[in-house]
Amino acid sequence: MKILVLNCGSSSLKYQFIDMENENVLAKGLCERIGAEGSIIKHQGKVEFKNEVPMSDHKAAIGHVIDALLNSDHGVISDIKEVGAVGHRVVHGGEKFTRSVIIDDQVYSAIQECCDLAPLHNPPNLMGIDACSALLPSVDQVAVFDTAFHQTMPEHAYLYAIPYEYYKKYKIRRYGFHGTSHKYVIKRVAELVDEPIEELRIITAHLGNGASVCATDGGKSLDTSMGLTPLEGLVMGTRSGDLDPAILAFIGKKEGITPQEMENILNKKSGVLGVSGLSHDFRDLEEAAEKGNERAKIALEIFFYRVAKYIGQYAVALKGVDVIAFTAGLGENSPFARAKISQYLCAIGAYLDPAKNNVRGKEAMISYDNSHPALYVVPTNEELVIAQDTFDLTR
Ligand code: AMP
Repeated sequence: MKILVLNCGSSSLKYQFIDMENENVLAKGLCERIGAEGSIIKHQGKVEFKNEVPMSDHKAAIGHVIDALLNSDHGVISDIKEVGAVGHRVVHGGEKFTRSVIIDDQVYSAIQECCDLAPLHNPPNLMGIDACSALLPSVDQVAVFDTAFHQTMPEHAYLYAIPYEYYKKYKIRRYGFHGTSHKYVIKRVAELVDEPIEELRIITAHLGNGASVCATDGGKSLDTSMGLTPLEGLVMGTRSGDLDPAILAFIGKKEGITPQEMENILNKKSGVLGVSGLSHDFRDLEEAAEKGNERAKIALEIFFYRVAKYIGQYAVALKGVDVIAFTAGLGENSPFARAKISQYLCAIGAYLDPAKNNVRGKEAMISYDNSHPALYVVPTNEELVIAQDTFDLTR
Protein backbone atom coordinates (compact mmCIF):
# COMPACT_ATOMS: atom_id res chain seq x y z
CA MET A 1 0.00 0.00 0.00
CA LYS A 2 1.26 3.50 -0.90
CA ILE A 3 0.42 6.45 1.30
CA LEU A 4 0.41 10.18 0.60
CA VAL A 5 1.44 12.18 3.66
CA LEU A 6 0.41 15.84 3.69
CA ASN A 7 1.41 18.67 6.00
CA CYS A 8 -0.60 21.74 4.98
CA GLY A 9 0.30 25.22 6.20
CA SER A 10 -1.52 28.43 5.36
CA SER A 11 0.42 29.06 2.13
CA SER A 12 2.57 25.95 1.86
CA LEU A 13 2.24 22.20 1.68
CA LYS A 14 4.82 19.50 2.32
CA TYR A 15 4.26 16.02 0.97
CA GLN A 16 5.79 12.56 0.96
CA PHE A 17 4.63 9.51 -0.95
CA ILE A 18 5.66 6.37 0.93
CA ASP A 19 5.54 2.70 -0.04
CA MET A 20 4.57 0.89 3.17
CA GLU A 21 5.92 -2.48 1.92
CA ASN A 22 9.42 -1.23 2.72
CA GLU A 23 8.74 2.29 4.09
CA ASN A 24 10.65 3.76 1.13
CA VAL A 25 9.95 7.38 0.21
CA LEU A 26 9.06 7.25 -3.49
CA ALA A 27 8.68 11.01 -3.86
CA LYS A 28 8.55 14.10 -1.71
CA GLY A 29 8.37 17.82 -2.07
CA LEU A 30 7.01 21.18 -1.18
CA CYS A 31 4.48 23.63 -2.67
CA GLU A 32 5.08 27.23 -1.63
CA ARG A 33 3.28 30.56 -2.02
CA ILE A 34 -0.12 28.87 -2.47
CA GLY A 35 -2.72 31.55 -3.21
CA ALA A 36 -0.06 34.14 -4.07
CA GLU A 37 2.06 35.27 -7.03
CA GLY A 38 4.99 33.04 -7.92
CA SER A 39 3.69 29.76 -6.45
CA ILE A 40 6.15 26.94 -6.94
CA ILE A 41 6.36 23.16 -6.57
CA LYS A 42 9.74 21.65 -5.62
CA HIS A 43 9.65 17.92 -6.25
CA GLN A 44 12.06 15.05 -5.65
CA GLY A 45 11.27 11.62 -7.04
CA LYS A 46 12.76 9.80 -10.00
CA VAL A 47 13.89 13.29 -11.01
CA GLU A 48 14.20 16.55 -9.13
CA PHE A 49 12.52 19.71 -10.42
CA LYS A 50 11.17 23.14 -9.49
CA ASN A 51 8.13 24.42 -11.43
CA GLU A 52 6.54 27.81 -11.08
CA VAL A 53 2.84 27.12 -11.68
CA PRO A 54 -0.29 28.98 -10.56
CA MET A 55 -1.81 27.51 -7.36
CA SER A 56 -4.85 29.50 -6.32
CA ASP A 57 -5.57 27.20 -3.37
CA HIS A 58 -4.63 23.90 -1.69
CA LYS A 59 -6.77 21.94 -4.14
CA ALA A 60 -4.72 23.31 -7.04
CA ALA A 61 -1.49 22.53 -5.18
CA ILE A 62 -2.49 18.93 -4.40
CA GLY A 63 -3.55 18.62 -8.05
CA HIS A 64 0.05 19.44 -9.04
CA VAL A 65 1.39 16.92 -6.52
CA ILE A 66 -0.84 14.20 -7.99
CA ASP A 67 0.25 15.18 -11.52
CA ALA A 68 3.90 14.84 -10.46
CA LEU A 69 3.26 11.39 -8.97
CA LEU A 70 1.45 10.28 -12.14
CA ASN A 71 3.73 11.93 -14.73
CA SER A 72 4.34 9.56 -17.63
CA ASP A 73 8.10 10.37 -17.78
CA HIS A 74 9.16 10.70 -14.18
CA GLY A 75 6.10 9.68 -12.13
CA VAL A 76 6.18 6.91 -9.53
CA ILE A 77 2.69 5.48 -10.15
CA SER A 78 0.72 4.84 -13.32
CA ASP A 79 -2.79 4.92 -11.85
CA ILE A 80 -4.34 7.22 -9.25
CA LYS A 81 -5.82 4.09 -7.61
CA GLU A 82 -2.32 3.34 -6.31
CA VAL A 83 -2.78 6.10 -3.73
CA GLY A 84 -4.03 3.80 -0.96
CA ALA A 85 -4.74 6.44 1.69
CA VAL A 86 -3.86 10.00 2.69
CA GLY A 87 -2.41 10.86 6.11
CA HIS A 88 -2.72 14.46 7.25
CA ARG A 89 -0.73 16.19 9.93
CA VAL A 90 -3.35 18.01 12.01
CA VAL A 91 -1.91 20.35 14.59
CA HIS A 92 -4.61 20.57 17.25
CA GLY A 93 -6.90 17.78 18.34
CA GLY A 94 -7.89 19.38 21.66
CA GLU A 95 -9.01 16.90 24.31
CA LYS A 96 -11.08 14.95 21.80
CA PHE A 97 -8.29 13.04 20.10
CA THR A 98 -5.90 10.82 21.99
CA ARG A 99 -4.79 8.97 18.87
CA SER A 100 -4.90 9.11 15.07
CA VAL A 101 -8.31 8.56 13.45
CA ILE A 102 -9.93 7.99 10.05
CA ILE A 103 -11.59 11.24 9.01
CA ASP A 104 -15.38 11.12 8.76
CA ASP A 105 -17.97 13.91 9.12
CA GLN A 106 -17.85 13.78 12.92
CA VAL A 107 -14.04 13.91 13.03
CA TYR A 108 -14.06 16.77 10.51
CA SER A 109 -16.46 18.79 12.71
CA ALA A 110 -14.35 18.07 15.80
CA ILE A 111 -11.21 19.34 14.01
CA GLN A 112 -13.19 22.43 13.03
CA GLU A 113 -14.12 22.99 16.69
CA CYS A 114 -10.41 23.00 17.56
CA CYS A 115 -9.75 25.91 15.13
CA ASP A 116 -10.35 28.26 18.03
CA LEU A 117 -7.33 26.73 19.80
CA ALA A 118 -5.07 26.76 16.71
CA PRO A 119 -6.35 29.50 14.39
CA LEU A 120 -3.18 29.55 12.30
CA HIS A 121 -2.83 25.80 11.89
CA ASN A 122 -6.11 23.86 11.88
CA PRO A 123 -7.84 25.86 9.08
CA PRO A 124 -5.12 25.04 6.49
CA ASN A 125 -5.13 21.41 7.70
CA LEU A 126 -8.87 21.35 6.90
CA MET A 127 -8.22 22.92 3.49
CA GLY A 128 -5.93 19.97 2.72
CA ILE A 129 -8.62 17.51 3.81
CA ASP A 130 -11.24 19.30 1.66
CA ALA A 131 -8.92 19.26 -1.34
CA CYS A 132 -8.32 15.50 -1.01
CA SER A 133 -12.06 14.82 -0.60
CA ALA A 134 -12.58 16.60 -3.93
CA LEU A 135 -9.61 15.12 -5.80
CA LEU A 136 -9.50 11.60 -4.30
CA PRO A 137 -13.11 11.03 -3.21
CA SER A 138 -12.86 7.28 -2.68
CA VAL A 139 -9.59 7.33 -0.73
CA ASP A 140 -9.56 7.09 3.08
CA GLN A 141 -8.02 10.03 4.91
CA VAL A 142 -6.46 9.86 8.36
CA ALA A 143 -5.77 12.70 10.81
CA VAL A 144 -2.57 12.43 12.87
CA PHE A 145 -2.55 15.03 15.63
CA ASP A 146 0.47 16.88 17.06
CA THR A 147 -1.34 17.00 20.40
CA ALA A 148 -2.60 13.40 20.69
CA PHE A 149 0.60 11.90 22.15
CA HIS A 150 0.48 14.33 25.09
CA GLN A 151 -3.06 13.44 26.14
CA THR A 152 -1.55 11.08 28.75
CA MET A 153 -0.26 14.04 30.80
CA PRO A 154 -1.67 14.10 34.34
CA GLU A 155 -3.86 16.98 35.48
CA HIS A 156 -1.11 18.50 37.60
CA ALA A 157 1.04 18.81 34.46
CA TYR A 158 -1.60 20.16 32.10
CA LEU A 159 -3.62 22.57 34.27
CA TYR A 160 -2.54 26.20 34.57
CA ALA A 161 -2.88 27.93 37.93
CA ILE A 162 -5.58 30.33 36.76
CA PRO A 163 -9.27 30.27 37.75
CA TYR A 164 -10.49 26.73 37.08
CA GLU A 165 -13.59 28.06 35.27
CA TYR A 166 -11.38 28.99 32.27
CA TYR A 167 -10.44 25.37 31.84
CA LYS A 168 -14.09 24.34 32.08
CA LYS A 169 -15.40 27.14 29.85
CA TYR A 170 -12.67 27.44 27.23
CA LYS A 171 -10.54 24.30 27.65
CA ILE A 172 -7.49 26.41 28.53
CA ARG A 173 -4.79 23.92 29.50
CA ARG A 174 -1.44 22.59 28.31
CA TYR A 175 -1.83 20.45 25.18
CA GLY A 176 1.74 20.19 23.90
CA PHE A 177 2.86 19.80 20.28
CA HIS A 178 5.48 17.91 18.20
CA GLY A 179 3.78 14.74 19.52
CA THR A 180 4.53 12.65 16.42
CA SER A 181 8.21 13.61 16.65
CA HIS A 182 8.58 12.83 20.37
CA LYS A 183 6.71 9.55 19.85
CA TYR A 184 8.98 8.51 16.98
CA VAL A 185 12.17 9.41 18.84
CA ILE A 186 11.36 7.48 22.05
CA LYS A 187 10.45 4.40 20.01
CA ARG A 188 13.82 4.57 18.23
CA VAL A 189 15.65 5.18 21.52
CA ALA A 190 14.10 2.02 23.01
CA GLU A 191 15.23 0.08 19.93
CA LEU A 192 18.74 1.57 20.07
CA VAL A 193 19.29 0.84 23.78
CA ASP A 194 17.53 -2.50 23.30
CA GLU A 195 15.26 -2.17 26.31
CA PRO A 196 11.44 -2.26 26.56
CA ILE A 197 10.00 1.23 26.19
CA GLU A 198 7.76 0.49 29.22
CA GLU A 199 10.87 0.51 31.42
CA LEU A 200 12.48 3.70 30.12
CA ARG A 201 12.33 7.31 31.28
CA ILE A 202 13.32 9.43 28.29
CA ILE A 203 13.60 13.18 27.79
CA THR A 204 13.41 14.26 24.15
CA ALA A 205 14.60 17.68 23.02
CA HIS A 206 13.08 18.60 19.64
CA LEU A 207 15.24 21.58 18.67
CA GLY A 208 14.31 23.12 15.33
CA ASN A 209 12.70 26.38 14.34
CA GLY A 210 9.95 25.33 16.71
CA ALA A 211 11.36 23.66 19.81
CA SER A 212 9.97 21.61 22.67
CA VAL A 213 11.15 19.22 25.36
CA CYS A 214 9.09 16.21 26.42
CA ALA A 215 9.35 13.94 29.46
CA THR A 216 8.16 10.40 28.81
CA ASP A 217 7.73 7.60 31.31
CA GLY A 218 7.22 4.08 29.98
CA GLY A 219 6.44 5.38 26.49
CA LYS A 220 3.85 7.92 27.66
CA SER A 221 4.09 11.69 27.70
CA LEU A 222 4.22 12.96 31.27
CA ASP A 223 4.95 16.61 30.56
CA THR A 224 6.03 18.85 27.71
CA SER A 225 7.17 22.43 27.35
CA MET A 226 4.68 23.76 24.77
CA GLY A 227 1.30 24.69 26.20
CA LEU A 228 -2.11 25.84 25.02
CA THR A 229 -0.26 27.01 21.90
CA PRO A 230 3.25 26.36 20.54
CA LEU A 231 4.41 29.69 22.02
CA GLU A 232 5.18 28.42 25.53
CA GLY A 233 8.37 26.76 26.75
CA LEU A 234 11.75 26.99 25.07
CA VAL A 235 13.12 30.04 23.30
CA MET A 236 12.66 29.36 19.57
CA GLY A 237 13.65 30.83 16.20
CA THR A 238 11.08 33.63 16.38
CA ARG A 239 9.00 32.70 19.47
CA SER A 240 9.70 33.99 22.96
CA GLY A 241 8.85 30.83 24.89
CA ASP A 242 8.19 31.32 28.64
CA LEU A 243 8.04 34.85 29.99
CA ASP A 244 6.43 36.77 32.81
CA PRO A 245 2.82 37.27 31.61
CA ALA A 246 2.84 40.79 33.09
CA ILE A 247 5.25 41.81 30.31
CA LEU A 248 2.39 41.69 27.78
CA ALA A 249 0.35 44.40 29.50
CA PHE A 250 3.46 46.42 30.33
CA ILE A 251 4.74 46.63 26.74
CA GLY A 252 1.18 46.96 25.41
CA LYS A 253 0.64 50.07 27.52
CA LYS A 254 4.05 51.62 26.84
CA GLU A 255 3.91 51.05 23.08
CA GLY A 256 0.15 51.47 22.63
CA ILE A 257 -0.31 48.08 20.98
CA THR A 258 -3.16 45.58 21.16
CA PRO A 259 -2.99 42.05 22.64
CA GLN A 260 -3.16 40.68 19.06
CA GLU A 261 -0.17 42.79 18.01
CA MET A 262 1.68 41.66 21.13
CA GLU A 263 0.92 38.02 20.32
CA ASN A 264 2.31 38.58 16.84
CA ILE A 265 5.53 40.07 18.30
CA LEU A 266 5.93 37.12 20.68
CA ASN A 267 5.35 34.60 17.87
CA LYS A 268 7.18 36.18 14.96
CA LYS A 269 9.66 38.79 16.19
CA SER A 270 11.01 37.28 19.40
CA GLY A 271 13.13 34.23 20.22
CA VAL A 272 16.73 34.14 19.02
CA LEU A 273 15.74 36.52 16.18
CA GLY A 274 14.42 39.10 18.64
CA VAL A 275 17.44 38.96 20.92
CA SER A 276 20.10 38.82 18.20
CA GLY A 277 18.36 41.22 15.82
CA LEU A 278 20.09 39.13 13.17
CA SER A 279 18.41 35.88 12.19
CA HIS A 280 16.08 33.12 13.34
CA ASP A 281 18.37 30.54 11.76
CA PHE A 282 20.76 28.88 14.18
CA ARG A 283 23.35 28.40 11.45
CA ASP A 284 23.59 32.16 10.92
CA LEU A 285 23.81 32.72 14.67
CA GLU A 286 26.54 30.11 15.22
CA GLU A 287 28.54 31.72 12.42
CA ALA A 288 28.02 35.24 13.76
CA ALA A 289 28.84 34.19 17.34
CA GLU A 290 32.07 32.61 16.13
CA LYS A 291 33.00 35.93 14.53
CA GLY A 292 32.39 37.67 17.85
CA ASN A 293 28.86 39.08 17.45
CA GLU A 294 27.80 39.65 21.08
CA ARG A 295 24.04 39.68 20.46
CA ALA A 296 24.24 36.38 18.57
CA LYS A 297 26.28 34.93 21.45
CA ILE A 298 23.78 35.95 24.11
CA ALA A 299 20.77 34.80 22.01
CA LEU A 300 22.34 31.35 21.74
CA GLU A 301 23.34 31.28 25.41
CA ILE A 302 19.73 32.06 26.48
CA PHE A 303 18.50 29.30 24.19
CA PHE A 304 20.96 26.66 25.48
CA TYR A 305 20.39 27.63 29.12
CA ARG A 306 16.61 27.33 28.75
CA VAL A 307 16.87 23.89 27.09
CA ALA A 308 19.14 22.67 29.90
CA LYS A 309 16.80 24.04 32.59
CA TYR A 310 13.83 22.22 31.06
CA ILE A 311 15.78 18.97 30.89
CA GLY A 312 16.70 19.43 34.57
CA GLN A 313 13.07 20.06 35.52
CA TYR A 314 11.94 16.98 33.67
CA ALA A 315 14.61 14.80 35.27
CA VAL A 316 12.96 15.77 38.57
CA ALA A 317 9.43 15.27 37.19
CA LEU A 318 10.42 11.76 36.08
CA LYS A 319 12.31 11.07 39.36
CA GLY A 320 15.33 10.12 37.28
CA VAL A 321 16.09 9.77 33.61
CA ASP A 322 17.66 7.00 31.52
CA VAL A 323 18.13 8.68 28.13
CA ILE A 324 18.17 12.24 26.81
CA ALA A 325 17.70 12.41 23.04
CA PHE A 326 18.31 15.38 20.72
CA THR A 327 16.34 15.71 17.50
CA ALA A 328 15.14 18.13 14.73
CA GLY A 329 17.21 20.57 12.64
CA LEU A 330 19.48 21.91 15.35
CA GLY A 331 19.40 18.89 17.67
CA GLU A 332 20.41 16.55 14.85
CA ASN A 333 22.94 18.74 13.12
CA SER A 334 24.73 20.94 15.61
CA PRO A 335 27.47 19.35 17.74
CA PHE A 336 28.10 22.88 19.09
CA ALA A 337 24.53 23.27 20.42
CA ARG A 338 24.54 19.78 21.97
CA ALA A 339 27.90 20.46 23.63
CA LYS A 340 26.74 23.80 25.05
CA ILE A 341 23.51 22.30 26.44
CA SER A 342 25.32 19.26 27.82
CA GLN A 343 27.72 21.45 29.80
CA TYR A 344 24.87 21.88 32.28
CA LEU A 345 23.78 18.25 32.25
CA CYS A 346 26.66 16.83 34.32
CA ALA A 347 24.47 18.04 37.22
CA ILE A 348 22.16 15.09 36.49
CA GLY A 349 24.91 12.60 35.61
CA ALA A 350 25.01 13.03 31.82
CA TYR A 351 28.51 13.29 30.32
CA LEU A 352 28.89 14.14 26.63
CA ASP A 353 31.80 12.50 24.79
CA PRO A 354 33.14 15.23 22.44
CA ALA A 355 34.50 12.67 19.98
CA LYS A 356 31.17 10.84 19.67
CA ASN A 357 29.31 14.16 19.52
CA ASN A 358 30.97 15.01 16.22
CA VAL A 359 28.03 13.65 14.23
CA ARG A 360 25.33 15.25 12.04
CA GLY A 361 21.96 13.89 10.95
CA LYS A 362 22.65 10.31 12.09
CA GLU A 363 21.53 8.11 14.97
CA ALA A 364 24.30 7.94 17.54
CA MET A 365 25.05 7.61 21.23
CA ILE A 366 27.08 10.71 22.10
CA SER A 367 27.83 10.21 25.81
CA TYR A 368 30.59 8.25 27.56
CA ASP A 369 29.69 4.60 28.14
CA ASN A 370 29.29 5.10 31.91
CA SER A 371 27.06 8.19 31.57
CA HIS A 372 23.61 7.74 33.11
CA PRO A 373 21.48 9.14 31.59
CA ALA A 374 22.91 8.32 28.18
CA LEU A 375 22.82 11.04 25.51
CA TYR A 376 21.61 10.23 21.99
CA VAL A 377 21.03 11.90 18.64
CA VAL A 378 17.96 10.53 16.84
CA PRO A 379 16.87 12.19 13.58
CA THR A 380 13.10 12.57 13.70
CA ASN A 381 10.73 11.28 11.04
CA GLU A 382 7.26 12.69 11.56
CA GLU A 383 6.14 11.75 8.04
CA LEU A 384 6.90 8.08 8.71
CA VAL A 385 4.78 8.10 11.90
CA ILE A 386 1.92 9.69 9.94
CA ALA A 387 2.28 7.06 7.21
CA GLN A 388 2.46 4.19 9.75
CA ASP A 389 -0.65 5.36 11.64
CA THR A 390 -2.49 5.86 8.33
CA PHE A 391 -1.46 2.40 7.17
CA ASP A 392 -2.49 0.76 10.47
CA LEU A 393 -5.94 2.39 10.37
CA THR A 394 -6.76 1.83 6.69
CA ARG A 395 -5.12 -1.40 5.52
P1 AMP B 1 13.62 22.25 11.66
O1 AMP B 1 12.56 23.21 12.10
O2 AMP B 1 13.64 20.98 12.43
O3 AMP B 1 13.63 22.03 10.16
O4 AMP B 1 15.01 22.95 12.01
C1 AMP B 1 15.39 24.11 11.33
C2 AMP B 1 16.51 24.79 12.05
O5 AMP B 1 17.59 23.87 12.32
C3 AMP B 1 17.13 25.87 11.20
O6 AMP B 1 16.54 27.11 11.48
C4 AMP B 1 18.56 25.89 11.60
O7 AMP B 1 18.69 26.93 12.51
C5 AMP B 1 18.81 24.58 12.32
N1 AMP B 1 19.88 23.82 11.66
C6 AMP B 1 19.77 22.98 10.62
N2 AMP B 1 20.98 22.47 10.27
C7 AMP B 1 21.88 23.02 11.12
C8 AMP B 1 23.29 22.92 11.29
N3 AMP B 1 24.04 22.15 10.50
N4 AMP B 1 23.86 23.65 12.28
C9 AMP B 1 23.14 24.44 13.07
N5 AMP B 1 21.80 24.56 12.96
C10 AMP B 1 21.18 23.88 12.00
